Amino acid sequence: MEEIISSLRPGTVVVLGIPSDVNSSYARGASDAPARIRQILVSGSTNYCCEDGTDLEGDPRFRDIGDIELGPVADFHSQVEETLAALLDRGARVLTLGGDHAVTVPVLRAYHKKYEDLSILHLDAHPDLYDEYGGSRSSHACTFARVMEEGLATRLVQVGIRAGTPHQSEQAKRFGVETIEMRDWWPGRSMDLRGPVYVSLDMDVLDPGFAPGVSHPEPGGPSSRDVLGLIRSIKAPVVGADVVELNPGRDSSDVTAMAAVKFMKELACRMLAGWPAASTG
Ligand code: MN
Ligand code: MN
Repeated sequence: MEEIISSLRPGTVVVLGIPSDVNSSYARGASDAPARIRQILVSGSTNYCCEDGTDLEGDPRFRDIGDIELGPVADFHSQVEETLAALLDRGARVLTLGGDHAVTVPVLRAYHKKYEDLSILHLDAHPDLYDEYGGSRSSHACTFARVMEEGLATRLVQVGIRAGTPHQSEQAKRFGVETIEMRDWWPGRSMDLRGPVYVSLDMDVLDPGFAPGVSHPEPGGPSSRDVLGLIRSIKAPVVGADVVELNPGRDSSDVTAMAAVKFMKELACRMLAGWPAASTG
């Protein structure tokens, strides 16, 4: 991995898998997501093109460097943070493939060191703001409580939320989270994002009709097209992103995995379009 990282040219959009689901509270299986996403990408079922016409296949600015080889669970967070820090030092923008949503915490620790004024767009059915869940403060249900406690973002904008709890509403107030609940969202609604922006995309933000292959399906969500429109609407430079919580074992005819592939491509092209980040576009 070190050799690969040192060979990267600044400005490369890098795909990195983090196949961990140790912090899932309910069902395991998200660790199989990076492999499934890659299988589909090379299967011939779709191509590497984005809707803006960019062809990622063979584009030297786009590189998939494989998965982090995860060591013992105790070292997992520092291992992810170190790898991300090395990538960011190299001038890369990183698109990570989860794994459960807990992988986003060490990723954002590294991002915070590089970008002091990071805005996060968090797309999810759940706020993931529990102080602790099931006896764990590292649970995927606690991700954005840790992110805000540690001051890793200047702004956290959550979109698609429809399974909050009173405790998490309190937490959102405490941390100054900007919540756009699903019942108050409509296509084209402005989020007023300024750069640099990090997009964290939990696949369960989608309505289960579009994404059955997740551990916590929650009815009443947006369509794939809605989410694509949302990604496309970001005017500020996107410096990093993750696609998390795909659970291939619960999927149906790869519907959710196909959506994850689509989002991965469109996020990568959005990240390329914003490079170099001299202006907010
Ligand atoms: Mn989540
Ligand atoms: Mn979720």
